[in-house]
Amino acid sequence: MSDPAPYRIFARKYRPRTFAEVIGQDHIVRALSGAFEHQRIAQAYLLSGPRGVGKTTTARIIAKSLNCEAGPTIMPCLECDACHEIEQGNDIDVIEIDGASNNGVEDVRAIRDAIYARPMRDRRKIYIIDEVQRLTASAFDALLKTLEEPPSHAMFLFATTDPHKIPDTIVSRCQVFEFRRLREVDVAAKLQQIVDKEGADVEPDVLAAIARGCRGGMRDAESMLDQVVAVSTQKVTLQDLEWIAGLARPERWLSLFEAVTQDDAPAILREIDDFLTHGGTERDFIEQASDALRDLLHVALLGEDALGVEPSPDRMQRMKELARSMGRDRLEATMGLLFGLESRMNAAPLAARALLEWTLLRAARLGELFELGLLVDSLKSLAGQADGASISARPTPVSVPPVSRPAPVAASPPARTPVPAAAPKPATAPARSASVAPTPPTLTPELMVPVAETFPDLLATLEKARPTLGRLIRENLVTGNLSQDGVRVVLRPPSDRERAVIDDPLERSSLGQLHGSPGAWQIEYQSVQKGPTDQNLQNLLEAFDGNEETP
Ligand SMILES: [Zn+2]
Repeated sequence: MSDPAPYRIFARKYRPRTFAEVIGQDHIVRALSGAFEHQRIAQAYLLSGPRGVGKTTTARIIAKSLNCEAGPTIMPCLECDACHEIEQGNDIDVIEIDGASNNGVEDVRAIRDAIYARPMRDRRKIYIIDEVQRLTASAFDALLKTLEEPPSHAMFLFATTDPHKIPDTIVSRCQVFEFRRLREVDVAAKLQQIVDKEGADVEPDVLAAIARGCRGGMRDAESMLDQVVAVSTQKVTLQDLEWIAGLARPERWLSLFEAVTQDDAPAILREIDDFLTHGGTERDFIEQASDALRDLLHVALLGEDALGVEPSPDRMQRMKELARSMGRDRLEATMGLLFGLESRMNAAPLAARALLEWTLLRAARLGELFELGLLVDSLKSLAGQADGASISARPTPVSVPPVSRPAPVAASPPARTPVPAAAPKPATAPARSASVAPTPPTLTPELMVPVAETFPDLLATLEKARPTLGRLIRENLVTGNLSQDGVRVVLRPPSDRERAVIDDPLERSSLGQLHGSPGAWQIEYQSVQKGPTDQNLQNLLEAFDGNEETP
């Protein structure tokens, strides 16, 4: 038997020939070994599992085990005609059928007519039907009749990636083996064997990246390795992998999420552009970025032993730093944004790229929310320690004047801000509704954060923490000033949409808790013409007013 093809792809060349060589499916190998040992071989097996994990390979090994001249044996000789021909896929008694293309009732009737004839040479007549879930309903009906009373020499090996599409009446007549996705370490080890046998020159990181990128499918992993080894003339690098196999080098994701953490919008857009320019699709991007986030989350939760495959020390250091600076909440929230992105893309495929950019730019802004949340939490817990009162939960509606609050640094008068005549009076003489003001909570010294010197300073802090709200206030500002009581701001009347943001109770309460704020904010609207409308701002607001996944 001469091999007609001078070059065989790795997946075929290194296909397991015996059960011992099958990787990552020990539970199936054990069960089959037991069945052969006790001669309790079923007449129909359903091999179910993701693509490229060894279902068809296992079917052929079962066929060899049954039909080998030295068999039936769990260790076929691999030398006899039956073993050879089954491996080549041309044994006359082992019939391989692609269920995707031979899925009609006539195809199944042809099987039924032929199956009663005795095998020509081998012990058993074996039908291997790949993608069996693709058979039509009438084809399944016809198949069922054969499965109910198969001749003793016949055997069926069905393979499927989608067992739920197979009628229960069929499944119940099969012994079912569920194949697992392969672990990354197992894939990487197999790739290493191939590299060694081929004498190929490949950076170790490349194998780890392929093992990660193939999502548990050995065939995909072997085919990626095949591509990069075939094309590269020198040592295969991560760069080759990205350009040839479309699998981004892990550094790309680290750079991307570093940019997200730093809210570096230009860098985010550059990374997306670079990925898409190299031939990856938006969906590839989401898939691979989600995997990278998952790695970071594992590092954040479980430490550096968390990953199946060891990254280089440099990269692990970067991952640890990134995981620490993002933190669990932000990692999870960013994952949530990416998961939501896929269904958005399905709804608007033409806007895929815009959606991708928009989502990551939003992810970059999550930091503000979390900083604010942390501040609120720490205020809550400090207030709780002080007297059980929760000052951060205190509502600050605009009609109620600010509650006085110890503010040691606020003794210095607002420097550069002009003080309008209507400035609130000092805390010792609270304004109009002193009677309704609640008793100020007793605060511990730790809670007395330094108060901003001037209103512009405070506004700058606000714009960092809450850019939209900050910008709205700046753009509509008439006057703003600080006192021991809190902050008083007069604005030109904004648009309804802007006003909805400014008057949002959550936004309002966040203002009083802003770092450097002497207390609650009192915001009044002047009855003058409103300022020019900023179209970009309008667009931004429209984009952010939905019920998004943002926490
Ligand atoms: Zn043999």
